[in-house]
Amino acid sequence: LSKEEMAEILEKPSFDKVVLGTGAQNRIKELFGEALSASQVVERIVEEVRSQGDEAVLKYTKVFDGADFTADALEVTADELESAMAGIDGEVLAALEAAAVNIRKFHTEQLPKSWFTEREYGSILGQKCTPLDRVGIYVPGGTAAYPSSVLMNAVPAAVAGVKEIIMVVPPGRDGRVNPYVLAAAKLAGVTRIFKAGGAQAVAALAFGTSTIPRVDKITGPGNIFVTLAKKAVYGHVDIDMLAGPSEILIVADSTADPRYVAADMLSQAEHDVLASSILVTDSAELAKAVSKEVDKQLAALPRQEIAAQAIEDNGLIIVTPTILEAVELANLSAPEHLELLTAEPWKLLPYIRHAGAIFMGAYSPEPLGDYFAGPNHVLPTGGTARFYSVLNVETFMKKTSIIAYTQEALAAVSSQVIKLAEAEGLDAHANAVRLRGN
Ligand code: NAD
Repeated sequence: LSKEEMAEILEKPSFDKVVLGTGAQNRIKELFGEALSASQVVERIVEEVRSQGDEAVLKYTKVFDGADFTADALEVTADELESAMAGIDGEVLAALEAAAVNIRKFHTEQLPKSWFTEREYGSILGQKCTPLDRVGIYVPGGTAAYPSSVLMNAVPAAVAGVKEIIMVVPPGRDGRVNPYVLAAAKLAGVTRIFKAGGAQAVAALAFGTSTIPRVDKITGPGNIFVTLAKKAVYGHVDIDMLAGPSEILIVADSTADPRYVAADMLSQAEHDVLASSILVTDSAELAKAVSKEVDKQLAALPRQEIAAQAIEDNGLIIVTPTILEAVELANLSAPEHLELLTAEPWKLLPYIRHAGAIFMGAYSPEPLGDYFAGPNHVLPTGGTARFYSVLNVETFMKKTSIIAYTQEALAAVSSQVIKLAEAEGLDAHANAVRLRGN
């Protein structure tokens, strides 16, 4: 196949290609009185929250999450936090603590430094790094609980030096938040937690309500409504990225264990029916063995139905003549997760240009990165690893330039600055330099 044909085959569902299920479509028709696309629904919710604040947040929390409460119950109290910490499994808590330590250590390495440099005639130039004042992190609720997402968003924000970390998470029908999610928030240093999800929570963070404070940036994964809401409020606040369904691409050679390859493909597939799992290999034998192994392991999975559908719709095994061509396909795909299950993964690393995170060798399975190793699991999807980076400490910081010239330094360059200002027809610019003498 040509490169273009390959690119077409490898194209993954992007966040705006997600098709709503009939259940969601019927729900929307019932609620809004007409058939609406996901982005139209999000537009309406965002506008309503912007104009009506808490009232709209509470209304949609009742509609979508089935939790009915008043504005004074939107925030998680210190007591709720304490009882969540006290009530959870000690071993899970210990694992969360260990993961938080690893994530903190890794992200501390990323901290950028402010710097200054001296130039001619005593002038100084520099760059000052400043954490954002207040950020909002979205933690998905809905169908599952994600304490790992709390750590992956909040710990880097805390390491960056963000003073106020505001978390939103959809509550269950009983109006409560999963205790592991609360425990992770406490461990990670989240400042305040609000029980709201979906587009209504994103809009509340972007515009502020009487109860939920307005933030400067919103990060964190979520479903199609969350992602489209982030897109809708971008510009009023900053966002991290627009994430679509999860994906893995594995580059493997004949030395790879087909059981490992199959297990790693299925670990993505169980996320979501839209998740994509791709193997690219130079070994036809491995390809056949993995195909068999996927069927075998699939049969034993509790989330078999979701995983089977994902494999059926978006699973792919490609055999290439050489391993370097497999790497070339990985670059074309720009996967969220890339595993190199080859005899010498470090030899391939220099050829990889586009991937959210790279997992090297047989003993670095993707779930290790999802939960524990330290690098972030909030990663670019849908081929956007071509231009987005993994969530990191700098996601929560900004850079400001410093310019400090002396009189002599300005005098030495003023005629050139004036020339450029005049060439642009901006005489007041030229004047500001001319006035200082040259
Ligand atoms: P969610 O919190 O993203 O969404 C729940 C909210 O969706 C509800 O509160 C509701 O407001 C809104 N909603 C549901 N149906 C709606 C409708 N018909 N119209 C308008 N709004 C509606 O939780 P979820 O649905 O379980 O999705 C979690 C997502 O997060 C999954 O796609 C999962 O793959 C993703 N995720 C990604 C990562 C990562 O790091 N990439 C980690 C964890 C989870």
